[in-house]
Amino acid sequence: MKPALSYACKDYPGMEACPGHFVAETEGELWKLMELHATIAHEEDPGAWSAEDRAYIGTLIKS
Ligand SMILES: [Zn+2]
Repeated sequence: MKPALSYACKDYPGMEACPGHFVAETEGELWKLMELHATIAHEEDPGAWSAEDRAYIGTLIKS
């Protein structure tokens, strides 16, 4: 198995109560999972995330 990338929604400020946790082999797949989660669980529009938002979220991805 290759090293996996993971993202825990609770690491994002204000999302401490969210149990969402995602693991994927590639960053591209992980972002898709995170965007789907944000859309369904938090009713967010990932298309509206700024480059700064994405850069910050990127720092929360663990390998
Ligand atoms: Zn969440």
